[in-house]
Amino acid sequence: MTTFNELELDERILDALHGEGYRTPTPVQEETIPALMAGRDVMGIAQTGTGKTAAFALPILHHLASEKPASGRPIRALMLTPTRELAAQIGERLRVYGQHLPLYSTVIFGGVGQSPQVKALRRGVDILVATPGRLLDLHNQGHVELGDVEHFVLDEADRMLDMGFSKDVERILRLMPERRQNLMFSATMPKAIGSLANNMLYDPVSVDISPEEATTDRIEQYVSFVRKADKRELLIDLLEGQMVSCGIVFTRTKHGANRLAKQLAKVGIPADSIHGDKSQTARTKALARFKNGEVFVLVATDIASRGIDVEDVTHVFNYDLPNEPEVYIHRIGRTGRAGREGLAYAFCDESESGYLVGIQRLLGHEIEVLEDQPYHFEKARPKPGQKPGRVKGFPVGGASRRGTGRGREMRRYNRGGQKQNGQRQRSDKQPSQGRQKNNRSRRGQRSDQPNRPAKGRPPQPKHRRGNQQGRSNNANRRSKRRDDRP
Ligand code: AMP
Repeated sequence: MTTFNELELDERILDALHGEGYRTPTPVQEETIPALMAGRDVMGIAQTGTGKTAAFALPILHHLASEKPASGRPIRALMLTPTRELAAQIGERLRVYGQHLPLYSTVIFGGVGQSPQVKALRRGVDILVATPGRLLDLHNQGHVELGDVEHFVLDEADRMLDMGFSKDVERILRLMPERRQNLMFSATMPKAIGSLANNMLYDPVSVDISPEEATTDRIEQYVSFVRKADKRELLIDLLEGQMVSCGIVFTRTKHGANRLAKQLAKVGIPADSIHGDKSQTARTKALARFKNGEVFVLVATDIASRGIDVEDVTHVFNYDLPNEPEVYIHRIGRTGRAGREGLAYAFCDESESGYLVGIQRLLGHEIEVLEDQPYHFEKARPKPGQKPGRVKGFPVGGASRRGTGRGREMRRYNRGGQKQNGQRQRSDKQPSQGRQKNNRSRRGQRSDQPNRPAKGRPPQPKHRRGNQQGRSNNANRRSKRRDDRP
């Protein structure tokens, strides 16, 4: 195995890595760093969580530190990313890795006032980390000059194009000198990325950290078949049963994220949401509360989740399955970071079975089914030979939307199909332990490893381990809440 010492990086960078506790390079670093050190372009297939930031940041810092900057300190390296969170994350890593170097970097992104960014640019920076929109804005106003860029990084290129930034990227490419070192990282390799790579990269070295290598090694994955209307209860059971103190829940919509976070908080699970409609300040605050353990669960939409770099995330819940299989890989990559292990749960309702087919095809294997849970709904399981993609006949966004009357009808039946007089009863469930008690015991308990299910069996739903003494106040409250539902 290669060590950082063998990569011929500047001693001051090695010192910083040592301080961070990095012992050996990750696979993406092992392959990318020597190519970049040798001055080559690189096309990397790797997702966040693999250590790709250091893979491009370290050799660029090394090169910049070995040259004397021209007077006025022009921008010599540009790192372009699709989201503000990711930009901030890269900026933070650059400060850590370059802490002993006489180099300056700054981060610019939209959604916040531009004057502090303009001030930082005026002082002169060697490395600029930016999102495309704000970069072009500031360039148009004459605050950014890219004529001296020697190193260019296009990070999360697939996401960049998905978000409609392809014209902006082309414009930015034209603002830089032709002779420069280029690096492109993408989690997936759709056709559009192939042609962008052809235009942008010169004789690149390919580095491919495939999804399987990046995820399935360390992340245990489960799927539950469940009615849409039961997803919330299943989530609460799993959050409590697993005593999750650092989990991310993915929903399809911003509204769904907001609503779910509020519902979790209401039943005593500290939760917050993060999505594109929230102001930058609110997002930063939510992230900080999650990082410091005040909030156990972050409910997120995909775009907002990019760049969430919290090493201790133990659980990821795909509350809504994504319609693009690659997004599933991105999402579960939020856990199992920096060599840790993680658990990923996917909830699949009847309208989402085609998405599951696509995901399993990309993974190259089936995800283990959690059948031993009280909301198991066999009809959501993909049919033999089912094609990937949307299930015909279901509106986008799910089978049992409010207003169709369908969800309500389903809730009036128990799992055996018997009518419940308009009220769902769960006589098959043992009373649960008090939620507050659970929370208290979880507080401050965050560990590197998730509370995983016993080997060979799926995680036990809470009702099987509940105390037999009778309902606690919380359980009573919860049962009342259920009965109150429409
Ligand atoms: P990234 O994929 O760049 O977002 O990195 C994921 C996480 O891995 C970050 O928290 C890094 O601090 C951490 N990391 C990166 N490289 C290493 C390494 N060689 N050893 C240990 N941790 C690392």
